[in-house]
Amino acid sequence: MRIVFAASECVPFAKTGGLADVVGALPPELVKLGHEVTVYLPLYAVVRPHLADRWKYVIRSITIPYESYNRFAGIVDGGKRNGVQYYFVDCPELFDRQGLYGTPTGDYPNNWERFGLFCRAVLEASKILGVPQIFHVHDWQSAILPIYLRTIYAPDPLLASAGTVLTIHNAGYQGWFPPQTTERLLLPWEIFTMDRVEQFNTFNFLKGGIVYSDMLTTVSRKYAEEIQTAEFGNNLEGILRSRAADLRGILNGVDYAQWDPARDGYLAAHYTANVLTGKQECRADLLHAFGLESVSATTPVLGIVSRFATQKGFDILSGIADELMRRDVSVAVLGSGEAYYENLFREFAARYPGRVSLRVKYDEALAHKVEAGSDIFLMPSRYEPSGLNQMYSLRYGAVPVVRATGGLDDTIEEWNAGTNPEQGTGTGFKFYGYAPGDFLAAIDRALAVFPQKSAWHRLMRNGMVKNYSWTQPARQYVEVYSEVAKRRS
Ligand code: ADP
Repeated sequence: MRIVFAASECVPFAKTGGLADVVGALPPELVKLGHEVTVYLPLYAVVRPHLADRWKYVIRSITIPYESYNRFAGIVDGGKRNGVQYYFVDCPELFDRQGLYGTPTGDYPNNWERFGLFCRAVLEASKILGVPQIFHVHDWQSAILPIYLRTIYAPDPLLASAGTVLTIHNAGYQGWFPPQTTERLLLPWEIFTMDRVEQFNTFNFLKGGIVYSDMLTTVSRKYAEEIQTAEFGNNLEGILRSRAADLRGILNGVDYAQWDPARDGYLAAHYTANVLTGKQECRADLLHAFGLESVSATTPVLGIVSRFATQKGFDILSGIADELMRRDVSVAVLGSGEAYYENLFREFAARYPGRVSLRVKYDEALAHKVEAGSDIFLMPSRYEPSGLNQMYSLRYGAVPVVRATGGLDDTIEEWNAGTNPEQGTGTGFKFYGYAPGDFLAAIDRALAVFPQKSAWHRLMRNGMVKNYSWTQPARQYVEVYSEVAKRRS
């Protein structure tokens, strides 16, 4: 099949979270299965260095009309990697900026225009470079593509048989804009109704994508159920329930070429489930990188790698911080994001120098070091559509302690020592309620097993041998594409 991905992030070009990992890893996997895949991305400032020596337009100028002005977008050929064709939508006035979506003080106010233009440019470019059977769009930033396709592009015979799949990576971000956005995007006012794009008198990009896409996916089985409830649907639960028959939960995969301690180039030493000795060296390397050299060899290291956002649940960590530090533990935290959480962690680290250490930055190398050097990995998320870090930590032998939500619930199985801990089952520790006490109890269960070396090794190994590669999810996406193509043929 011919599939076009339109997305706002993709490794190695532009990344703020798991979306980029998915758009980076799924297309090559689809190519391996014999499909033809093209990925379109905005040409942000961070993309420029990737193109420096090979800047080549395949389309010089596409005119995108607005009410009282035109914008012009070029399509730059990013070449092929692992069989996937990359194209970048170039419109410097809109994309040649430092941030992908905004500055530390907030989102760019014209994101409606930035991503509206991006999606129209993808549709226009496809008519010249190749119309796919499936446009696969991701989150609110490209959810506008199916809206365009089924409204102002509906009469276009070139695009008539193309189907659409929308993947919801996070229903907490929906792209809300003023009602006037409808006409600013040259869309007909008749779609500004509650059963289409309107929500509480805003134009909601994600909602429109949900209504106008042929099929929907989200990134775990559990999250597919959760987003149909008021607690997780962020006011989209009703519209999602109305499309339940077309919604699938497909767990994200892990790119083990990047995330495997047997060959990870960022690590001080390599190790496997059978030969764990290198993990000690990685632990020492991590403690050194975080200035925690004085932590004793018998003290478990608790690791965190995360965006700092309400979603990630760190307010319940702050509720148990002092109680936790009465135990023999040390904590290494890597993250960046909202100032509120940065300050929480700064205060935490300041209260326990030499035992708690924080690095506020986005740092790929350090993220790998934390996974490899930690004994226990903490993810107390309020909600977690898929989550990648818990799957990485399984492979790296950093036993996850997670809240049982979304992909965390789907991927982590509670440790059960049984009658012989060396034969114990399970891969980590889960808690259900969103309460500090529940979180602490789960950490305590982990800490109780940690000193029992043979049980702990069994627990680590149970996780390390799990395989969450992209092979299976890619096949599930192909099933979805096939179903859409069948409906459209
Ligand atoms: P989300 O997409 O909600 O941020 P995921 O767990 O799905 O959460 O994906 C997060 C990705 O971002 C992982 O690849 C993780 O390693 C990476 N990441 C998050 N914060 C940082 C950071 N401060 N430095 C490096 N990588 C980070």
